[in-house]
Amino acid sequence: MRLLFLGSPGAGKGTYAQVLEKELGIPHISTGDLLREEIKKGSELGKRIEGIMQSGNLVPDEVILELTRQRIARPDCVKGFILDGFPRNLYQAAQLKELVEITHVLNFKADDEVIVERLSGRITCGKCSKIYHKEFGYVPEKEGACDVCGGALFEREDDKPAAVLQRLKTYHEKTRPLIDHYREEGLLVEILINKPISEIREQLVGRVKEFLDGKRETIGRID
Ligand code: AMP
Repeated sequence: MRLLFLGSPGAGKGTYAQVLEKELGIPHISTGDLLREEIKKGSELGKRIEGIMQSGNLVPDEVILELTRQRIARPDCVKGFILDGFPRNLYQAAQLKELVEITHVLNFKADDEVIVERLSGRITCGKCSKIYHKEFGYVPEKEGACDVCGGALFEREDDKPAAVLQRLKTYHEKTRPLIDHYREEGLLVEILINKPISEIREQLVGRVKEFLDGKRETIGRID
């Protein structure tokens, strides 16, 4: 089961990927998380990409391709994986195709206004990367601490308003064309983010399991 999650920043890709990772026992690979780890470690690469990420632009393709190549070659990916945040443009998609065959591409769809509202208030665990929101969806039980590992929650630098607008612009220019690309390849599954997270989560998990059990030919649109 090699899944690819598409959608604008804040559409919920990371949240649903974390849910499916648990349910299916396949790793959630977020290229954003891999890059943030490099920054945290203070590596050469981290220093090179920090400014680019804070501004809401894309880091160079070669950097991302190398990181992804190394990550999906690890043994925990043999049963499959969920790629979240990669590919972000048509060139990356073409390179990915050379590496592996993808089972489904899930496109999480939401309006820009909803996105901006969700991103302001999003908080992430600095230790295990679990995603929360200050007001709705997954609200942490104890303010400022992760329910799972107790790590400190922080607000991402690129979730601040100016960077969010740039990230949306980058998404519309570079990443959105991937929707038509994967539709033409017959891999696209549309998921509309217009109801509570718990409902979408339940439907998504149910559909994926039915697909894996051979009860459905495809995951099918969720709206
Ligand atoms: P994310 O956590 O997916 O929202 O990614 C955060 C930031 O990491 C993006 O705004 C980009 O600067 C960078 N990034 C993540 N994935 C990619 C990618 N596939 N290609 C280029 N830049 C990426």
